[in-house]
Parts: sequence; C-alpha cells; structure tokens
Amino acid sequence: MVAKKHVVMFSGGIGSWATGKRVAEAHGTENLVLLFADTLIEDEDLYRFLEEAASNIGGELVKVAEGRDPWQVFKDERFIGNSRADPCSKILKRRFLRRWLEENCDPSNTVVYLGIDWSEIHRFENAHAHWTPWVCEAPLCEKPYRMKQEMLADLEAEGIKQPRLYDMGFPHNNCGGFCIKAGQAHFKLLLEVMPERFAYHERKERELAAYLGKDVSILKDRRGGTTRPLTLMALRERVECGDAVDEHDWGGCGCVA
Ligand code: SF4
Repeated sequence: MVAKKHVVMFSGGIGSWATGKRVAEAHGTENLVLLFADTLIEDEDLYRFLEEAASNIGGELVKVAEGRDPWQVFKDERFIGNSRADPCSKILKRRFLRRWLEENCDPSNTVVYLGIDWSEIHRFENAHAHWTPWVCEAPLCEKPYRMKQEMLADLEAEGIKQPRLYDMGFPHNNCGGFCIKAGQAHFKLLLEVMPERFAYHERKERELAAYLGKDVSILKDRRGGTTRPLTLMALRERVECGDAVDEHDWGGCGCVA
C-alpha cells in the first residue's frame, strides 16, 4: 500500500506552524511536506521563521516561487487587487501551489492541510472548492480550540521566536506586512513602523495607476456615504496632517482560501 502524503500549506504564519505540529503528531513526519510559496515581497524574518518552524515540526520544507511579485501580477492582469478580488494570491499561491500538487502528488493518497482556525471556519468551507479533487483539512478547526495568543505561547515554549511582524502589531506574516486585503489601520501601521516599505508600495500603486491610465487604489474612502478610491499617498498625507483614518479597518488576509 502506498503511504499517504500530507502536505501542509505553510505560509509562515503561526497558524501554519500550529497546523504542521498537529499533522506531525497525528501522522508522523515521514511523508510530511511543508509547502511554502514565496511572493518575493516577504519580510526577511519570515525566512528565519520558516526554517526554525520547519525544523521544529519535522518533515520536508519545500519552497517554491512562481517568479513574479504581486505588483508584477497586477500589471500583467491590468488590475489592482483589493479586499474582494485577489489576483496575487490566486496566481502566486492557490494556482501555483495547485500546480505543484498536480506535478508531485496523487489526489487519491494525498491530504492537503490549511492553517485556517476555528474562528474563521467559513474560510475553510469556501476552501474546498479551490482545492478539489484534493482532500483538504484544517486541523485548527478541530478541538482543542486554540486562540492565536495561545499558539504563540506554544511556539515560544518550543524556543522559537515569533515572526517579527507580529511584534510590530501586524495580524499576519504575509507579503512583508503588505496586503491588498488590508484596511486603512493596517496600512497606517505599515507607514509608522516601516516607512520605507510603505513608500515602496505607495510608489508601485502610483506607477500602476499611471500604467493603467485609471484612478485605481487598494483602499477605499467611504466617508460621507460614498465610496471613492483612497490611494496610499492620500492615506499617508492624511496621517501626516493628523486627519482621521479608519482605525478599525484592518481588513483580512487569507491567501489559500
Ligand atoms: S498576502 Fe495579500 S497581497 Fe500578499 S499574496 Fe496574499 S492576498 Fe496578495
């Protein structure tokens, strides 16, 4: 009988570490793959975390990259991503990881694991459609339920320092603190803690708008009951002038579902 293969979608966040631990405990590490897709704009500390987390879990860490970053995808697709449409994660993660599965795994004896937890179970319900015919599971949606802070404490207890983006206050460790699904509060944080990185994305957004010849932006301004584009430059100027930004608008990041 062919041994079952276990493939964990390993993004570099706490959820992927905790998922990998549960899969290793349940099935061992002999046929375990921790699969990471690099968007090429990751935070430098993500690579330290990936290596330490993978050696703590066991199994084989496989790193792949489609070859473009999200801004190159937006240009090629002639569309800037936003909270409702995410060509970057579709092309650089879901589609590319799926191709890796097709080339390396047999759906009849492979289980794919997602780092989605019980608090976002709706995402797991949507995820099946993306991954079929692969059987997909989300061990963190099952008992014992763990809060993010508890998982981070578990990580520390294993002697691994959490990704530095969490120290800075970011809710995720993807794309170096950038995300087209992020909201105003998230980008304000990026401006405050990594102004050079914010400036890079502000410039890329401006370049893309000029290339497309359209008034496009990641963020939206919903003040006054109407929705208008809110560029990163306009957000920065608001912050610099002390104007209000939506401090509750963090947005959400989920690449694999
Ligand atoms: S983290 Fe955000 S910007 Fe990066 S690939 Fe995922 S959806 Fe796109």
